[in-house]
Amino acid sequence: MDLNKNLKITNDIDNTKVGTYKVKYQVTDESNNKKEAYRTVKVLEEAKANTIYLTFDDGPRAGTTDKILDVLKSRNVKATFFVTNNGPDELIKRIVSEGHSIGIHTATHNYAYIYASIDNYFDDLEIVRNRINTLTGVNTNLIRFPGGSSNTISKKYKEGIMSELVKETVSRGYQYYDWNIDSNDSYSSKDKEKIYNNVINNLHHERANIILMHDVKIATSEVIDKIIDYGLSNGYNFEPLTSSTMLVKQKVNN
Ligand code: ZN
Repeated sequence: MDLNKNLKITNDIDNTKVGTYKVKYQVTDESNNKKEAYRTVKVLEEAKANTIYLTFDDGPRAGTTDKILDVLKSRNVKATFFVTNNGPDELIKRIVSEGHSIGIHTATHNYAYIYASIDNYFDDLEIVRNRINTLTGVNTNLIRFPGGSSNTISKKYKEGIMSELVKETVSRGYQYYDWNIDSNDSYSSKDKEKIYNNVINNLHHERANIILMHDVKIATSEVIDKIIDYGLSNGYNFEPLTSSTMLVKQKVNN
């Protein structure tokens, strides 16, 4: 018998309104036995054009994260921090209390461990989720993969792991964010001018600009003021990523 014929799908989705919606699946067989199942669907907001999303990975770190927080505060700009298990607890608290978004980058940032298995990845992720939750009460579902979802280094540790992780994180309720501008502050770590130019030369008004930076870098903490200056005087808005922001994805290569 064709069960599909007797499948009834109902939902209250309004795709013009950000929110979480329920979809109900109901199936009835010839003897009128009913079975129901539910699924939730989230409607998210597209990352906004003419906006700069400053995102900082790998912290917190005393001496640089606090400096960046000072600048953000003085400019009244909100950003997003994808944190690890390093750095002082005080800075985790400060990120949240000053209105920034906080997300998980992983505890160890050790590619060989986190990308060796799905279980390793989530065990490691959980450590930071708990740290944030214990210190701030925030139960974040924002994540950034070390190396981004497009990284190929993970291939060395497990073939296909990123393809599995992008699906598995979403099905566990996480939202992952890549970037479309790399400040390259990992590599040109001492060259402030280069970092500045990598950012400002790639900004576009007609799209959302998600910038990858690292708050553990001294040069980044010293150049962030100038980058904000440029953004503000050129008509950009600064926003934090939130759990209502649509995922920002790169192409998965493993
Ligand atoms: Zn990182």
